[in-house]
Amino acid sequence: MGLKTKSEIGILKDMIGIYCRGMSHKKPCRQCDALFSYAEKKSMSCPHEGGHVFCSICSVHCYDEIHREKIREVMRYSSRRYFLKHPVTTLSHGMALLRKRKEEKNKESQKA
Ligand SMILES: [Zn+2]
Repeated sequence: MGLKTKSEIGILKDMIGIYCRGMSHKKPCRQCDALFSYAEKKSMSCPHEGGHVFCSICSVHCYDEIHREKIREVMRYSSRRYFLKHPVTTLSHGMALLRKRKEEKNKESQKA
């Protein structure tokens, strides 16, 4: 497992934790635990290991529909709160997201 995957999984865990606490889920929360194991598995088996970031980009490609919706909900809820806690991590993640979007845009324009 690459370093990047490891830090991704750490972020995921934090984000899901923030969401779970924020929603006042009962502990242990089977719903959020299941979402985390799913995301962790996806992250580890991701073919883009090393180059991808975990959230919207990756979930679009590898998550099934139910988990995609769920992780989006978690991200929506947790991202701002996570940013307040870890501004540097969030910023570098945001930069990677922008880079990836740009790459994809370039690819598309090459196809056309
Ligand atoms: Zn929960």
